[in-house]
Amino acid sequence: MAEIRTIVTVGEILVEFVSHQKNCALEQITEYSGPYPSGAPAIFLDQAARMGAATQMIGGVGDDGFGRRILRRLREDGVGIDGITVSDEHSTGTAFVSYYDSGDRDFIFHIAGTAADAFTVRSGVFAPAQTILHVSASSLGISSMRDKIMDAVRSVGDGGGLISCDPNARPELMNDPVTRDAMFEVMESSSILLPSTSDLDFLYPDLSEDAAVEKLLNANADIVAVKRGAGGVTIVSNGERHDFAGYAVSEVDPTGAGDCFCGTFVSLISQGASLYDAGMQANAAGAIAVTRRGPMEGNSNPSEIAQFLNSRSPKENIA
Ligand code: ATP
Ligand code: MG
Repeated sequence: MAEIRTIVTVGEILVEFVSHQKNCALEQITEYSGPYPSGAPAIFLDQAARMGAATQMIGGVGDDGFGRRILRRLREDGVGIDGITVSDEHSTGTAFVSYYDSGDRDFIFHIAGTAADAFTVRSGVFAPAQTILHVSASSLGISSMRDKIMDAVRSVGDGGGLISCDPNARPELMNDPVTRDAMFEVMESSSILLPSTSDLDFLYPDLSEDAAVEKLLNANADIVAVKRGAGGVTIVSNGERHDFAGYAVSEVDPTGAGDCFCGTFVSLISQGASLYDAGMQANAAGAIAVTRRGPMEGNSNPSEIAQFLNSRSPKENIA
């Protein structure tokens, strides 16, 4: 992958407000913190940039305070922002989130009709042959986003670049035939697949985990990373398998851990790291992410990850 230079995402960019009060169901009048920069593709790409990859974000924000907050954050972390459309007509997309004691969460998203989906993908903003396009498949459930993402997937696939995909195969996405078809098309085009164990259960209910991974490797994937939340991760490639147990951390906010994991992993692989090193560091980055409140606030950089790994005995981490 040495000739691949830039990691690109196309998708929703938002600010998020997090309720201080659990169980409020977004119904109570209570305090919120925000605006936190958010949106799965943006969280992913911010982490990929922090890990040293060249990146390009394609999406939209409004010409307002929320949009400026996001742009400043991405710029400071080294994310390429030339692909972001700043809209005069639409305001920045927002999300509100509240947690329950069980860890479940309620979301209210405002994406349709905001700057988050009013952007255009300008021609020339990425060079297909030098691109790794990452698709967070939850974005495919947003109808206004889907065609833009699928056009980019086809252009990168046809142009000799690479696709990576986090399937996020939630039932509401899988139950919509158009979204489901798009998700399978992206997965079939992907050389790096980053499903969670629950994604594999939804995608292949009749297959064991090993059989599902085998099926993915026999299709087009070169690398499959199976995310297990607190249980860690397994990285599988043809002839190679690495199991990493999860690190014991106290979970404050799990939102964004999956994207942070994927951003770390794809960034390191794009820079020539071994599967073992990329898996080890991404597993640590995911663990760090859950200890911090806020969707993108859990992202980290190589020195924080090195410090985290140095503070743990490697033995604790062999599954
Ligand atoms: P999402 O709910 O955002 O879709 P995901 O299912 O894609 O998340 P997770 O498996 O929750 O992703 O998290 C990604 C990785 O982060 C895990 O594989 C693991 O390495 C790390 N991780 C996540 N949660 C924890 C935790 N509680 N303790 C330690 N590590 C964790
Ligand atoms: Mg996920």
